[in-house]
Amino acid sequence: MTQSTLQVLTSNAKLLKASASKYAIYGVLIAVAAIVVATGMASYVEHGSISLDGIISAQQNNVALWLLDLTPFGFALWGQYVSNVMAFQAGALVVDQTNELRAQAAAIERRATYEVTHDRLTDLPNRLLLQDRLEQALHLAQRDQLSLAIMIMDLDRFKDINDALGREQGDRLLKQVAARVQSAVQETETVARSGGDEFLVLLPTIANENAAIQSAVAIGNALKAAFDLGGSKLDVQASVGIAIYPDHGHSADELLQRAEVAMYGAKQEKSGYAVYDDKQEINSPRRVTLAGELRQALEQDELLLQYHPKLDVRTNQVTELEVLSRWRHPRHGVIPPDEFIPLAERTGLIKLVTLWVLKKALHQVGEWARAGIDVGVAVNISAQDLHDEDLYDRITGLLAANRLPADKLVLEITETSIMIDKERASSMLRRLAETGIRISIDDFGTGYSSLAHLSILPVKEVKIDKSFVIDMMSNPKHAKIVRAIVDLGHNLDMTVVGEGVVTEAVYRELARLQCDSLQGDHVSTPLEAEALAEWLLQVPKLKKVQGI
Ligand code: C2E
Ligand code: CA
Ligand code: CA
Repeated sequence: MTQSTLQVLTSNAKLLKASASKYAIYGVLIAVAAIVVATGMASYVEHGSISLDGIISAQQNNVALWLLDLTPFGFALWGQYVSNVMAFQAGALVVDQTNELRAQAAAIERRATYEVTHDRLTDLPNRLLLQDRLEQALHLAQRDQLSLAIMIMDLDRFKDINDALGREQGDRLLKQVAARVQSAVQETETVARSGGDEFLVLLPTIANENAAIQSAVAIGNALKAAFDLGGSKLDVQASVGIAIYPDHGHSADELLQRAEVAMYGAKQEKSGYAVYDDKQEINSPRRVTLAGELRQALEQDELLLQYHPKLDVRTNQVTELEVLSRWRHPRHGVIPPDEFIPLAERTGLIKLVTLWVLKKALHQVGEWARAGIDVGVAVNISAQDLHDEDLYDRITGLLAANRLPADKLVLEITETSIMIDKERASSMLRRLAETGIRISIDDFGTGYSSLAHLSILPVKEVKIDKSFVIDMMSNPKHAKIVRAIVDLGHNLDMTVVGEGVVTEAVYRELARLQCDSLQGDHVSTPLEAEALAEWLLQVPKLKKVQGI
């Protein structure tokens, strides 16, 4: 329950009590007036005039007046009683509503957490949750010297089925497949859907390779009977790739990548299942081999960084740069982050990517600081980074090594990343924020949460997702969303950044709405360190928006 709701309910209780007291005072006043009039009348009737002697005698001898004299006390007591009863009832109301609001907030939070960790179509855990469980299982297996298996299952020809029968029937099939796979495994084993027609199965402890093979065969058998899609019967086969700890890898990312290679091997051989073998690598598609090459790319410094300025609207200065990574691949050329970051996230390599980026970017900012260029840097952080216990020590260590104060670093995190494991993410963010590092919510408006909900975290900045900003001049709905985020952000004491500022018109409109910082091609495209340093010299010459 929020502080303001509590305040409203408490002040309502006070209001009720005050109003009951007010009516009791009216009662007392009327009773006193009645006594005065009645005493005067009694004096007149008995003595023919209203005199002091007559009034005293009436008060001493008239029994009816004695009773009347008691009424103000009656009203005062009644007023006290009623106001206390009302306050008590209002108090009970406050307690009732508090409990109800608490229950509602908890339900919303449970729902949000469920949505980011489960697949909507099949209700199975999603890849993120499975990855988390795989990491926990690996931890136990390493400690107790046990084996485990991760299997990736992909339906054969699912795309053809989808194209021929339509999406709705495709979804129906996936739901039935999910139910059958789940019924073929043990309760301690996790089945997850990782998107499309790909499913993952975690066997947290296995006696040997044979046990994993038996499980893959059981899944194959469960899919043997034809599927019933509202009248039409359909035969479906699947290919399962198996990777085993410790034989085929020691980390979650290695095992997942190898299970995928094995799955393509099974598809190639039409064997239903296959256990990982390094000979299968040559037949894997680009994204699978890229995942395998990423670790090496980091070691060989194949990633490069570009810096994207955030322009402060009020001062017309650039005090912060967002760092964006690209992969300069020896065969495929420059690969954009939208292609390799999701890959790194899928395979768990993202932690190494993030550390690489932090290391390089903080070193660069330290160099700039020593050369008299005073800028901060914003680094994009993924969900898994927030679950990495080492992150805090690494970051504080890098800041110290480069002699940078903590407020030179901003961590940009999407709302969805925070929701995946809110408790863990929040505690990491709090620890980081306590050192002075600033936390920024990226791509705001695209996730499930509300800003008010996020405001319990130490968030200093919110970035409006570029999809709302880019067309805000021609899309009134988006313009309204942008305005609402700016206002709400300010009310919650956050700085608001507009990203995707491509035109002068958007630039002016955001400045008019008092958006604090702007980012986008109209200010500057992302630049490599050297070009960026040169560009920074031009900033004072940038035209300032009129009237801001
Ligand atoms: P993001 O964090 O939302 O970054 C903004 C993206 O929008 C960048 O694309 C940036 O170049 C682009 N952008 C911003 N303003 C404009 C504009 O006015 N016009 C156009 N055409 N584009 C604009 P980029 O560099 O391709 O990055 C895409 C996403 O990849 C980023 O989205 C971020 O989520 C992720 N990413 C990039 N580098 C890293 C990294 O080092 N670590 C992690 N975890 N994610 C990264
Ligand atoms: Ca970002
Ligand atoms: Ca963004």
